[in-house]
Amino acid sequence: MSNAHRVAVIGAGPAGLMAAEVLTERGIGVDVYDAMPSFGRKFLMAGKSGLNITHAGERATFLDRYICNDERLKSAIERFDASDIVAWMRGLGIEAHKGPTGRVFPNMMKASPLLRAWLQRLSDQGAVFHTKHRWEGWVENGALKFMTPGDPKTVSYDATLLALGGASWRRLGSDGAWTKIMAAKSVRLSPFGPSNCGFLVNWSDRMRQDQAGQPVKACELSVRTNDGVQRSRSEFVITERGVESGGVYMLSAALRTTLQQQGEAVLNIDLCPDIDVQDLAKRLAKPRGKKSFSNHIRKVANITGPKLALIYEFIDRAVLNNPDKLAAFIKHIPVPVIGHVPIDEAISTSGGVAWSAISDDYMLKNLPGVFCAGEMLDWDAPTGGYLITACMATGRAAGLGLLNWLSRD
Ligand SMILES: Cc1cc2nc3c(=O)[nH]c(=O)nc-3n(C[C@H](O)[C@H](O)[C@H](O)COP(=O)(O)OP(=O)(O)OC[C@H]3O[C@@H](n4cnc5c(N)ncnc54)[C@H](O)[C@@H]3O)c2cc1C
Repeated sequence: MSNAHRVAVIGAGPAGLMAAEVLTERGIGVDVYDAMPSFGRKFLMAGKSGLNITHAGERATFLDRYICNDERLKSAIERFDASDIVAWMRGLGIEAHKGPTGRVFPNMMKASPLLRAWLQRLSDQGAVFHTKHRWEGWVENGALKFMTPGDPKTVSYDATLLALGGASWRRLGSDGAWTKIMAAKSVRLSPFGPSNCGFLVNWSDRMRQDQAGQPVKACELSVRTNDGVQRSRSEFVITERGVESGGVYMLSAALRTTLQQQGEAVLNIDLCPDIDVQDLAKRLAKPRGKKSFSNHIRKVANITGPKLALIYEFIDRAVLNNPDKLAAFIKHIPVPVIGHVPIDEAISTSGGVAWSAISDDYMLKNLPGVFCAGEMLDWDAPTGGYLITACMATGRAAGLGLLNWLSRD
């Protein structure tokens, strides 16, 4: 393979930058393009409340978090997993720590020092950066076409790696507009869907006014889908429009699919997952004396605030004085979900380039010499570090695939 090869990486998020790293390490000349005035805007946003870059857990459980109809995603992650990411960060002078649930963060929490060090290393390895270059497809001779603040530009390369992201938070650059270019080239795409997003519930005015913004802690959420029951044990937040945050994000694929298939979905909440239903009924049956219902349920089951409001929101009042029925209700509050927030508000998106459209080297079968990586590929995962891990792992796999393709002659 000749070092005279020149490659374009378009999209400077974690997937594109990881591909650029693999390529520049092997002496390939790389131009990195992004439509935005600076690189890695979504990566920086991810670091705003602590960059959860990966997750340290059992490998099998870790891989089970991904929803993808192709084994190549898992094999890319097996080749660049949580421990590799921690070692890679250390190589950039950034130490990591593990939170109580296995989430891994850089010690200083923010993404900016990591991104700065990463860009510096890429530049030292010879990568050339081009901001404000919006890729718009190809001209007739196969050269890439870019819109820039000045004149449009066309540039030819030996190969191109696209890492254009999904279709949410368009103000950070990931607008999904690339799907039009792909569709015109007959690249097979799966429609985008919102993931790790809020869902809509038609709360009463009282619930909305009193409880919006309140976290509901230590509960278990579940959704019955056509394939069985999906569960998540985490807290969530009541919002003006519905429900949001950790525990709900874990179930976003299940809720989204059920909404698509059935037009409605039910989010079941177990407010006391550590107490079984008989024990809870016994506790609720204790004599109440002169205590109010609210005081009684607080004392016997530690249910207060938003948890109590959820009971009042959905219960048939006749059940309040029946300990068995009340216990069953508290263990299974059915919250009707009527939709999801707009896709642009989602933390990530499912859908994108279908795995059947790319070769084992991550090259588009319809477009020889054009490779894809990151969130623009069709996979889904919850928050918790799984998203960035898969973006980096596929960025690396696609970069290596491109190298393999360049070395074919
Ligand atoms: C609020 C928030 C918090 C998050 N927190 C976490 C977290 O803690 N942990 C985690 O794992 N994940 C998190 N994520 C998700 C994670 O940031 C994304 O999954 C990841 O950034 C996707 O990486 P990517 O490289 O595939 O694409 P992106 O990071 O989206 O990068 C794509 C790049 O392509 C550029 N681009 C698009 N179209 C064009 C074009 N036509 N021409 C030129 N350039 C183009 C964009 O400007 C963008 O810079 C979070 C996301 C958000 C929004």
